[in-house]
Amino acid sequence: MKHETETQPDLQTLRSLPAVDKVLAQVGQLELPRQAVVAVIRRELEALRGADAIPEADEIVARIQSSLHALWQKRIRPVINATGVLIHTNLGRSPLGEHALAAMAEVASQYGNLEYDMSTGQRGGRAAYLEHNLALLCGAEAATVVNNNAAALVLVLRHLCQEERREVVISRGELVQIGGGFRIPEILEVSGATLREVGTTNNTSCEDYRQAISSATALVLKVHRSNFFMGGFVQSPTTTELATMAHQQQVLLVEDLGSGAVVPTELLHSSLEHEPTPAESLKQGVDLVTFSGDKLLGGPQAGILVGKKTLVAALKGEPMFRALRCDKLILVALQTIVDDYLHGSRQELSDSMRDLHDSSQGQDAGCSLPLHAMMSVTIEQLHLRAEKLVAALADQPWQLEILEGESRIGGGSLPRSVLPSVIVALRPEQKDLATLTTRLRDAAHPVIGYIHADRFCLNLRTVLPTQDEDLIAALRAVGSGQ
Ligand SMILES: *Cc1c(COP(=O)(O)O)cnc(C)c1O
Repeated sequence: MKHETETQPDLQTLRSLPAVDKVLAQVGQLELPRQAVVAVIRRELEALRGADAIPEADEIVARIQSSLHALWQKRIRPVINATGVLIHTNLGRSPLGEHALAAMAEVASQYGNLEYDMSTGQRGGRAAYLEHNLALLCGAEAATVVNNNAAALVLVLRHLCQEERREVVISRGELVQIGGGFRIPEILEVSGATLREVGTTNNTSCEDYRQAISSATALVLKVHRSNFFMGGFVQSPTTTELATMAHQQQVLLVEDLGSGAVVPTELLHSSLEHEPTPAESLKQGVDLVTFSGDKLLGGPQAGILVGKKTLVAALKGEPMFRALRCDKLILVALQTIVDDYLHGSRQELSDSMRDLHDSSQGQDAGCSLPLHAMMSVTIEQLHLRAEKLVAALADQPWQLEILEGESRIGGGSLPRSVLPSVIVALRPEQKDLATLTTRLRDAAHPVIGYIHADRFCLNLRTVLPTQDEDLIAALRAVGSGQ
């Protein structure tokens, strides 16, 4: 109540300013909660109190409008990803498919058996079904899930680095940074581990690892170079050699696989390299593998741990596991996606991919994961959509071109793979490109593209086919506003 009365005078002052109605009209349109509006107005007025000269009323209103708009722009909402980067971390990585969404909506709006054993009517394990099928999918003895891959790694390190055994032996060629804020050495540090670097950037041998192992060694860590590649004179032991050596020395081998494809990526598109799968790593002798749920798996944000049964059970017993566990919505989305993978065997997958390339049905055939659909859509299909887009925009004040270009996987995955793509390029007749880019970000359904060679580019591989109409609407709205 006190808060309420305190806010009144500020609003009152503002009401007396000539253009305040304009601000309030704008506010109504943005649907910002009144409390948030009042907070912004108060902050702007507070800032004025310290100023030497008080600006004109119109100027004050303009500032408030711009602050309100900036706040409004920060809320999370759908965008059209026309960047051509499939797993775009800034744009939320993998979009989820209809199966997962339907399952999430159902479980979100009702009660569910999250920790309830349906056969006994007693308290039960969380995500037991998911863990069972995830293990099957990865050819693992056991599996579990936490918040993200960084959390999975912290949990593993916390558990295995204890007392006198804290050293993590890792190659200097694998002390990687993934995107913003994830650096292997820093993750080790916060987990209470001591880094024991071996080898050189480009050359690490099994002998380097062997010599570093002592009674202080907690584990050997292998980190997949998921977002970069090295060429030239590069040597490192195979996973099998590393596992054999580690086991001879009686230490565990853990692998951070990063992207975590569970199907052969080369089957999704002939231009894709093979991404190592968790099943392959486990077969080669790795004791525990961690990977992300929202990279090549095409699921929600999660960190997946697969490997030895005793190890997974011990990790689940860690107090920290409780702090890193996933929400039921994430669990049910993953459960649906894992089952979809299990339903489509490897053979069926390659068949459906072939059908997809032959079919005239478009890119939805046989693909329940939007990520896979985007990877396997053909250039011909993209050209058809580009032509429709250009036809729908013919009366707009732009020069339009259809170009062939490239698309990338992104999200720290398959850095060497480039997929061919089709680009609709816009050259505005009057406004500059920067204004066009900003206007499109401001659209009701924001469009995120990029500027290249004096053109605004829309890379169609990452635009979901269901968004084509919205894309046209956003472009037309911005075009007619010029
Ligand atoms: C992406 C990545 C991570 C971080 O995974 P998050 O799920 O984003 O926490 C860790 N290690 C590697 C090798 C990665 O590629």
